Amino acid sequence: MVPFQCPYCGVGCGLLWEERVRGDKNHPATKGDLCKKPVYYPKVMKKGRLLKPLYREKKNQPFREVDWQTAYKVLKQKIENLHGEELYFYLSGQLMTEDIYVANKLVKGFLKTNNIDANSRLCMATAVSAYKLAFGSDGPPCSYEDLDDADCFVFAGSNALWTHPVIFKRILKRKLEKEDVKIVVIDPIRTETAKRADMHVQLRAGTDTALFNSILYILYDKGWVNKEFIGNYVEGFEETIEECLKYPPTVASRICQIEEEQIYKLAELYAFSKKLISLWCQGLNQSSQGVNKNLSLINLHLATGRLNERGCPFSLTGQPNAMGGREMGYLSNGLPGYRDVRREEDRTFMEDFWGIERGSIKPQPGPTITEAIDLILKGEIKFLWVVCTNPAVTLPNLRKVWEALEKVFLVVQDAYWNDTCTFANLILPAAQMGEKEGVMTASDRTLTLCKKFSEPPEEAKPDWVIFKELAEYLGYEKYFSYKRSEDVFEELKLSTKGKLCDISGFNYQQLPRRRGKRWLYEELSFPTDSGKAKMFPTPYEHKDADFILITGRTKNQWHTMTRTGKSEELLKGEEEPYLLMNEEDGRNLGVLEGDFVEVIVSDVSLKLKVRLGQVKRKHLFAPFGYGLAYDAVVNALTKDVCDPVSKQPELKFTSVNLRVRDRR
Ligand code: SF4
Repeated sequence: MVPFQCPYCGVGCGLLWEERVRGDKNHPATKGDLCKKPVYYPKVMKKGRLLKPLYREKKNQPFREVDWQTAYKVLKQKIENLHGEELYFYLSGQLMTEDIYVANKLVKGFLKTNNIDANSRLCMATAVSAYKLAFGSDGPPCSYEDLDDADCFVFAGSNALWTHPVIFKRILKRKLEKEDVKIVVIDPIRTETAKRADMHVQLRAGTDTALFNSILYILYDKGWVNKEFIGNYVEGFEETIEECLKYPPTVASRICQIEEEQIYKLAELYAFSKKLISLWCQGLNQSSQGVNKNLSLINLHLATGRLNERGCPFSLTGQPNAMGGREMGYLSNGLPGYRDVRREEDRTFMEDFWGIERGSIKPQPGPTITEAIDLILKGEIKFLWVVCTNPAVTLPNLRKVWEALEKVFLVVQDAYWNDTCTFANLILPAAQMGEKEGVMTASDRTLTLCKKFSEPPEEAKPDWVIFKELAEYLGYEKYFSYKRSEDVFEELKLSTKGKLCDISGFNYQQLPRRRGKRWLYEELSFPTDSGKAKMFPTPYEHKDADFILITGRTKNQWHTMTRTGKSEELLKGEEEPYLLMNEEDGRNLGVLEGDFVEVIVSDVSLKLKVRLGQVKRKHLFAPFGYGLAYDAVVNALTKDVCDPVSKQPELKFTSVNLRVRDRR
C-alpha cells in the first residue's frame, strides 16, 4: 500500500494506492474519507502527458524534441543574458513542498530576484494577508477536529459540498449526530451547499463586509460582545466599532438585499452558539475588497472570543499544497518559514542558511502575477517560466494575458499538455503525484508524505530535480547537492525552526503528522507587535452593475480540467460550459434553458449556453475551467482589478451586459 495525498483540493485527504485508490483510515486529518475525484486519478495519469522536452526559438515554428541538456543550455543562455528583474517564475499550489523550496531557493537566493509568484495569488493570497494582519501570522487557527464538536457552521462564499466535499460531509455527519447543529450559508447562489443549510443568506455579490459589519453592530448594540476576551487579547476594537456603527441592520439589509431578520439571526448565532466555526473560500478571497471581507469576518470571532474551544475563523485552502507553498514563502514577498523579504532579519537568516552572500536577497517583493503581465507588455519582463499551472485559462483579463504570453520567452513545465503550452517556446515534462516522492500540507496543517506508485513516463522528471539540475548547470552544484527528495526535506525543515510552521523535528518516517497543536494560538498569545490579536475597521465599497458575473468551479472538475476532464465518469453532466441565470431574469429576457446569450464586457463578448437556476436575481454564474478548445474561456470577461493589500484579482464580481440572440 502506497500512501499519498489527494492531488486535488486543499482538504488534503490521505489516500492509499493498492491497485485502486482508497482512503487511508489511519490518516490523522481525514481518517479514510475521500470524494470521487481521486478515484479516477490512476485512469487519467497517462493521458495527454508531456514526455520529452520540446523547443522552438520562435512561436511560429513547430516544436522539436530536444534532450534535457539542450533544454538546460537554452535556459542557461536566456537566464545569463537577462537581468534578474527581466525573469519571472510562476509556481503552483499543486507542487510538492520540496519542489517549491528548491525553485524558491534558486530564484530568490541565486538568481537574486523576487520575481516569483504562485497561483495561490488567485486563491489564498487574501486569506494569508488577513491572517497576518489579524493574528500576526499566516496559518489556520484550528484543525479538522474542531469540525467534530462545533454546533454552528457559517459558510461564507464557499460551495463546500462541491469544492471541499469531505469537509462538508464531516459537518453533515456532525449534524446527524447532534440535532441542534446549525449550518448557515452566505452566498448569492443557491448552491448545493446552501440547499442543505438551515439558513441561506442570499446576499448581493460583494456585500459581505456590510453584512459582517452589521452583525458586529448588533453584537455591540445588544451588549453581546465578549468584553473580557477583548480586554485581554484584542486591540483595535473601538476603531472597528466606530466603523461598524455605519451599518445598522436597516442599512445593511438594503445593501445586501436580504431581510433584516437574517442579520439578527446571524448575530444571535455568533453571540450564543456553544462553538461556531466560520468557513470561507473564494467568495471572500477573490475580491477587490477581499482582505476587508476576511477581516470583517475575523472581527466577529475576536469580538465574541470565538477562538479555540469556542470556535474558529477557518479559511478553506483551494489547492492541495497551497499551505506548504505558504510555509515555504512562494509568493513574491515570502521566504521559507513564514518569513518575508521585507524584513532584514528574515533575509539575513535565509542568506546565512543558504550559505550565500549577505545582500543577495532583494528587500522589495517582486511583482505579483497580474503586475508581471503588465511588465511583460511593457517589455520589462522578457522571460516567464510557468510551473504546473495554466495561466492561459485561469488569469483574469485573458486577452491581455494571451498578448503577454505571445510576447515573452515562455517556459512551461507541466505533466500535461495544457492551453499555456500553445504559447510556449520551451516545454519541460514533469513527473506528477504518484510518480515522485514529497510532502504536502493540508488545510489543517497536516503533512503527508506522498510516495511513488508509478514511474514517470519517458523523460518526465520531478520538478525539484529540474530546478536542481538547472542550478548545477548554472554552477551552483554545491548548494543543490540533493540526491533524493528526502535530502531536500531535511534541509527545508530546518528553515522553519522556532517559527509557527515549525517542522524541524519531523522526518519522512513519521508522516502523516499535524504541524503544531490543535489550536495554533492555544495560549492566546499572538505573534503581533503587542502580542494581541487585531480588529480592523472594514468599510464596504459599493459597485454598480447591470448583471453581476460570478465565476467558479463545477462539481467534479478540478481547475482547468487537465486531469479530471480526461475521465468520462467525472465529465458526465459537465461536458460543456454554461451560464447560470435566475429563472425570473430568464423570463424577463425571453431566454429559455439551452438558449445562447452573449455576455459582454467592454469590447469582449462570449456566447454561453443558459441554464436557468436559483442564482440571485441579476446575478450570473459561469465555470472558468473550460479551455481554449471550448471557445468559452470565461476569464476573457473578467478584469485584473485586485485587492489593494493581497493583490488577489476580483473574480466574483464582474459587471456585464447581456445580448439575447439566437435560440439553440
Ligand atoms: Fe481530494 Fe478534496 Fe475530494 Fe479529499 S475532498 S478526495 S482532497 S478532492
